[in-house]
Amino acid sequence: MLTEQRGLVTEVVLDLKVAIVGAGFGGIGMGVALKQAGYHDFVILEKGDRVGGVWRENTYPGCDCDVPSHLYSFSFAPYRSARQRYPGQERILDYLIGVADEYGLTPHLRLNSALTTATYLDDLGRWELTTADGAIIRADIAIFALGQLHRPYIPDIPGRNDFAGTAFHTARWDHHVDARGREVAVIGTGSSAAQLLPKIASIARRVHLYQRTPHWLLPKPSREFGPLSRLAMQVPGAHQAYRTALHRGADAVLAPIMHRGWSALPAQWFARAYLHRRVADPRLRAAVTPDYPIGGKRIIFDSTYYPTLARHNVRLVTDPIQRIVADGVETVDGAHRPAAILVYATGFRAAEFMAPITVRGRDGRLLHEQWRDGAEAFMGLAVPGFPNAFLIAGPNSFTPAGSNPTMKEYQIDYILECLRWHEQLGGPAVEVGPVAMANYQRWLRRAIAKTVWSGPVHSWYKHVNGRVVNPWPGTTRDFARMLAHHPVEAFTAVARDRNPVPEAASLF
Ligand code: NAP
Repeated sequence: MLTEQRGLVTEVVLDLKVAIVGAGFGGIGMGVALKQAGYHDFVILEKGDRVGGVWRENTYPGCDCDVPSHLYSFSFAPYRSARQRYPGQERILDYLIGVADEYGLTPHLRLNSALTTATYLDDLGRWELTTADGAIIRADIAIFALGQLHRPYIPDIPGRNDFAGTAFHTARWDHHVDARGREVAVIGTGSSAAQLLPKIASIARRVHLYQRTPHWLLPKPSREFGPLSRLAMQVPGAHQAYRTALHRGADAVLAPIMHRGWSALPAQWFARAYLHRRVADPRLRAAVTPDYPIGGKRIIFDSTYYPTLARHNVRLVTDPIQRIVADGVETVDGAHRPAAILVYATGFRAAEFMAPITVRGRDGRLLHEQWRDGAEAFMGLAVPGFPNAFLIAGPNSFTPAGSNPTMKEYQIDYILECLRWHEQLGGPAVEVGPVAMANYQRWLRRAIAKTVWSGPVHSWYKHVNGRVVNPWPGTTRDFARMLAHHPVEAFTAVARDRNPVPEAASLF
């Protein structure tokens, strides 16, 4: 149980073994793993007023998950109902709240606590975390489970502040605004826009959809299971068998799409054929056909987007935006299109890991300076110079080809191993060693060079300098395989250095 001395907000209010930051899939999964391993002395700091991460923040109409329920869940906690093949936003949020409750995490949660600074105290070998309300928390281990898609990106388009209507980002949906019968402008054509468009087009007078770059799209099966599948799902063991089959399927079918060369061609051919079938107008079809290889940006999985583009009240605008004006949007061809509601479906500051938190590691080094040319972390979970600190869903550990909750569970298991090892050492902090990190980075660079992301196409997968910092260039099974070693093989003990860094070339 948490104890807290209220009053002087600058005092250390908590002193613990572990501080987790973030209560989305990563933070909740880590909390459950800690409890099950017998660690109860931890807190989960959360900037929001409840758990849920992106599934709390994204409530735009149509917000859904395009990854099947059986994959988009923890291995230890299936969804209760077997009705739905794909979970919607509310269902995922309920699921996460339910897991937190069922596994006894509620007393560990400290909500409305946005982390501002995290400092490694060299002399103590511990972390000191400060929150926006001035609370100070000390912990042996800091685990940052912030996710990548939680800081909305709103482009600085000229005239943005002149807009007289209502404007907001998809992740900050204003539910007080009624779009019925009104002129709506949507900027951006990624997954969020694709899910939103059919809903907004069904009520708005007109929707202008501003596309800068088309995304590749593959159809998504219907959300509900049929009666037979529902029945089959009741058979003992069916859940796990289906989950395993989906994992294998994603590794076999989706993962090859990321590689340059022939392996993505069947998917690209299929996407083209689907586009041809669903978009009859050749001009519209040409406008939404990408000119880069499939997988270069995250693929949209949706079966309602293309038909919606052909609706009488939807206009796809491909002329670049010149400026936003009080009553609409102007494009470079001089056209002015009215808008009373302006929706930024423009994505997230996904490459700015850990921002806006100031993180100081060993000898006072600043994480954002170390990451000036792009974030990097050993298996997306540990950074040299930052002992006893771990990330969940850090750099290059997002899979566009499978289950991200599963990727996080693999990291969580490994972090738990690190914690146990840290305890066995009985004092010194643990930190990823320079040799393991260098070998891993070498492997990563080579693997990324073979992917479609290494080309010129722009996406949230990349740092502004073009470096690919978000996606994992392998299958989820590759990820698990590469984490299947004891931390002693990659980590070193800080201070006493009882475990010198081995030549870790064999790891990768
Ligand atoms: P996104 O994929 O990053 O798309 C942002 C869109 O905004 C792009 O079309 C981009 O164009 C456009 N844009 C950005 N700046 C612009 C500007 N200055 N002028 C015109 N257009 C501009 O963002 P998102 O759709 O929110 O999706 C982000 C990620 O969230 C997805 O890739 C996915 O991983 C996740 N997501 C998942 C689900 C799910 O079902 N699991 C649903 C929604 C989102 P460019 O392409 O030219 O940059």
